[in-house]
Amino acid sequence: METTRCLIIGSGPAGYTAAIYASRANLAPVLYEGNMPGGQLTITTEVENFPGYPEGVDGYEMMEQLKQQAARFGADMRNGIVTSIDLSKRPFVATIDDDTEISAEAVIIATGASARYLGLDDEKHFQGRGVSACATCDGFFYRKKVVAVVGGGDSACEEASYLAHLASKVYMIVRKDHLRASKVMQERVFTNPNIEILFNTNTLGLFGNEKLEGAHLIRHKGTPQEERFDIAIDGFFLAIGHTPNTAFLNGQLDTDENGYIITHGSGQATSIDGVFAAGDVADPHYQQAITAAGMGCKAALDVERFLLENNGK
Ligand code: NDP
Repeated sequence: METTRCLIIGSGPAGYTAAIYASRANLAPVLYEGNMPGGQLTITTEVENFPGYPEGVDGYEMMEQLKQQAARFGADMRNGIVTSIDLSKRPFVATIDDDTEISAEAVIIATGASARYLGLDDEKHFQGRGVSACATCDGFFYRKKVVAVVGGGDSACEEASYLAHLASKVYMIVRKDHLRASKVMQERVFTNPNIEILFNTNTLGLFGNEKLEGAHLIRHKGTPQEERFDIAIDGFFLAIGHTPNTAFLNGQLDTDENGYIITHGSGQATSIDGVFAAGDVADPHYQQAITAAGMGCKAALDVERFLLENNGK
């Protein structure tokens, strides 16, 4: 069976940054890109908040550049999905595409988190043309326009408040008659004159020609007061939560109640020695490219130290 000293799982900013650092430390890392090479940034339009790009950068292009940087130092980056991994003893053994196995002295998990969508066909149709799951990434393109945010949690309130600074009007589409968000976040949206909350409302579909032009909504679904109506919007932002991509771990690492991997101390160590986690999969809170990259760097440095202390075994 093939063996590597450092296996990196995932290819977002965390995974590629870990690969840059691990390869520069002569760890000859092997990285598996997963089912979405480059990660979530490849589906955003432009990244304008990553330091070092004064004019902004296309998300896909930025991830290509990170990949090239890692390749320059010899990181071995491969197509393939880690479908399962045995973390019960070292070396750990990962299975790729339910087929080949590779053993690793240390592992960095950087598989990210996927934004949840409602599951409407129209969401796919208008992806990148009005539909987004990241206000911080895409909100800027909706200056002085009308947008809607779906969800009633802290993320939705945060995204609605953020968008209200840019857009001329923000609808919040909330399926219940109340918000789930913390009181302080609720207060923020209730007192913002640019935000109109549509309670008891669900989205039936989206419409538009080239770009998104509006949403078909339903209020009080399944009750005598049920009513259908449309709103004209340029942007439709999902904020109904993220799901950390940890299914392949099969519960072997400690996670919080939402499934995010718990890291210990100031580094990226997990509940198993030799296994480190970086990026959104271990971060329910910040979920930014720059914070993910920072964690990828820390994880690689942690692996280097771990291998040194364990005689490279
Ligand atoms: P939450 O799970 O807290 O909220 C999700 C929201 O989306 C809920 O209002 C839920 O409605 C709604 N929702 C879920 N599925 C659907 C659906 N199919 N259709 C319509 N609405 C749906 O997720 P968040 O991402 O908001 O927050 C995750 C965690 O991160 C929380 O612990 C939160 O406190 C934390 N967080 C904290 C922040 C802060 O403190 N600044 C900022 C952002 C997040 P319902 O209530 O009906 O279930």
